[in-house]
Amino acid sequence: MAARNNYLLIVLDSCRFDSFVAAAPRTILRLGALERRWSYASWTAPSHYNLLMGLLPHASPPHVHASEYYKRDFVRYNQRLGADGIEFKQLLPSLYLPTVLKQRLGYRTHALVSLPVLNPATPINRDFDSFALMPTHNDMAAMLDRLTFDAERPSFYLLNVGETHYPFALPGEDPSTWPHISGVHGIFRHLDAEVVGGRLAEGEALPDFDRAQLDRLRARQIEAVCYLDGVFERLFDLLPPHTYVTVTSDHGELFGEDGYFGHGPIQHDKVYEVPLVEGQLR
Ligand SMILES: [Zn+2]
Repeated sequence: MAARNNYLLIVLDSCRFDSFVAAAPRTILRLGALERRWSYASWTAPSHYNLLMGLLPHASPPHVHASEYYKRDFVRYNQRLGADGIEFKQLLPSLYLPTVLKQRLGYRTHALVSLPVLNPATPINRDFDSFALMPTHNDMAAMLDRLTFDAERPSFYLLNVGETHYPFALPGEDPSTWPHISGVHGIFRHLDAEVVGGRLAEGEALPDFDRAQLDRLRARQIEAVCYLDGVFERLFDLLPPHTYVTVTSDHGELFGEDGYFGHGPIQHDKVYEVPLVEGQLR
């Protein structure tokens, strides 16, 4: 079995479906039609594990058994990888996409991640030829310089992009000007802790002051997607032919809806609803 395509799985961390829609990123949407999908998990680590099992955010189809859905969904890797005969059973026994790509299909496998919770010492770093935590959490453009492709062998890249993660800061922005939630203690803890969820206590109202701040945070996530669309323009220019790209998110983000903030220990539609766009440019 041989695969022809390079494959890039690009995860816009925390990017909510409706933030993506509001940003309407023209360049990313050159890949294909926007799909509304659902993440299997509400925060970064389990969600990335799931993605690396080859299971992209699901379409939540009714009247279909889970096993049947996995099988059907997995067949799409033939298109993604430019291969024939890829089936879900080939994931066995590792149930890990990098293992299959590297050991069975001869891929070079790489990960460039922004969030420390995915650092190279974590268990998701398995069967990667290289796996790097970026020096800053919010600089997808810096990843572009590290992409290399080999004419002899196809390459797989996982790119975990952090501009869309709280505090939704662009690379040039002075950290002292980053917004922070005040008056709601313990909600957004230190970024490195990657524990950014929580709910107001029962009966505790969200002050107007914070409402305006949360609206601003949501606007910043949309602005981050608009900014990233420009980075994708540069990315698409440097991709070799036969490269398939999937752009999605690992989970959404709450901006005060029903008393919730952030993501993680939250049971809410908006923490699972994510965008998915994929295709091959040429
Ligand atoms: Zn995340």
